[in-house]
Amino acid sequence: MEDENSMFLMEEALEMILVFNEEGVVSYANAAARKKLGYEEEPGSGSGLAGRDVGEVFPNAFPWGGVPGDYTLGGAQRNLVAYRRNRTCFPVEAKVVESLRRPGTYVCMANDILEKEHLGREIGQVREEAQQAAKVKAEFVANVTHELRTPVNGILGNVRELVEEVTDPRTVKALQLIERCCGDMNKIINNILDFSKLDAGKFTLEPRRFHFRNMLDYVKAQHKGRISEKGLDFFVTVSPQVPEYVVGDELRIVQILNNLLSNALKFTAVGKITVQVLRTASVGDKIELFFIISDTGIGIGEADMDKLFRSFSQVDASISRKYGGTGLGLSICRQLVELMGGRIEAESEKNRGSTFSFSVWLGACEEEHREQSPDDVKAVFRQMAHQGQEGAKTGGDARSYGTPENREALKKNLSKLILCIEMENWEKAEMFMETVRQLAEEAPAEVKRGVLRLKMAIQKENYEKAAAEYEKLEQLTAM
Ligand code: ADP
Repeated sequence: MEDENSMFLMEEALEMILVFNEEGVVSYANAAARKKLGYEEEPGSGSGLAGRDVGEVFPNAFPWGGVPGDYTLGGAQRNLVAYRRNRTCFPVEAKVVESLRRPGTYVCMANDILEKEHLGREIGQVREEAQQAAKVKAEFVANVTHELRTPVNGILGNVRELVEEVTDPRTVKALQLIERCCGDMNKIINNILDFSKLDAGKFTLEPRRFHFRNMLDYVKAQHKGRISEKGLDFFVTVSPQVPEYVVGDELRIVQILNNLLSNALKFTAVGKITVQVLRTASVGDKIELFFIISDTGIGIGEADMDKLFRSFSQVDASISRKYGGTGLGLSICRQLVELMGGRIEAESEKNRGSTFSFSVWLGACEEEHREQSPDDVKAVFRQMAHQGQEGAKTGGDARSYGTPENREALKKNLSKLILCIEMENWEKAEMFMETVRQLAEEAPAEVKRGVLRLKMAIQKENYEKAAAEYEKLEQLTAM
């Protein structure tokens, strides 16, 4: 009964089943095998393949004519070529097992994969055509955008000249508006150009050695005015562990920061915008820098978070109506960050604000960074103390207030001090404060009082007060 059932199941199965012995002689082939292999009309047992050599069906896999071989094909599923009776062939996925109940009897189960292969080839062809079409489209967009640049710059140049010439205030205002519109248009054109280059995989980074903090100062200066015009606070802090010089594509890092800061400004009406830069890893001569840009703006709802870094995506239509934009900025940022080996992420809460963070891998110029590590800070102190002694010996004390060396050292230490204050690294701030205090020993009473107040604010770990006192002191010691 059990045998009858399994015979029935084998006969009806959609896959081809062949049973054969260790000489390769087929004793049974199910209906699917007979049909696909063209042995249906074979007179006799109804199993037209019976008595034939399995090597006739799979000549590339099994030996012919009773030559012994590994009939299990290593027990794994294999791609074979099955030959029909008329010697045409088709691909199959086949597996052979040895019967447990009847050792020396093998069962081969094979599926015709001709259609699957055809389908695979068709999919490949469709994909290739789609890629080709996308490429043509991207090239067209890139060309058109490039062509747009010339007339926009033409208008811009002429308008600038006219602004210089005309005196009528209404005309000046109109021309300035045209100038601003051309600027905006240029930004959009540049975004589309970058986007199509990135999309076509034609974008290449141009790494160069640059002064990291100067780059950040430049970014800060670009946004400071508009941020304070809106009445927002703006803080930029860099961890002392970030080297002075790094190797990377400065322009593109500026572009990412500009984009994130413009968004932060666009979507924030009250509160503050902060930028923090940390060094998070180093491997060989490469370092990972981590940037955090936070705002206290309108935020982004949870449901919209996954749309953020997709091209042309804005959270909703009302946002684009109210705030403008093309929805390309963050997608470009994501692609640039990924080209620099990093990741970009966002965290946000509706009506509470957003934090965008990204990492990039850059080349480190450690020799420029030496004085940043704690050990080297000590070395700097030692050197300064030494300078002091040498100065005393030679009669020109470098620590005396007013000498160029003294003022230079004071300037350097004050700028390090503000970094520590902004990072709220009070321990380090106290160390720099002590140096500043020594350097200001000979200073006028006014400066010394400023130093004392700043020192107290730092010892109390009071950020607001320390930052305010710092500003006052910086003005007093400005050169
Ligand atoms: P756009 O040029 O339109 O600003 P982006 O890709 O830079 O394009 O931003 C996409 C969308 O993400 C914005 O339209 C906005 O809805 C949302 N978004 C980006 N940054 C912020 C942010 N700091 N606060 C709130 N929403 C933001």
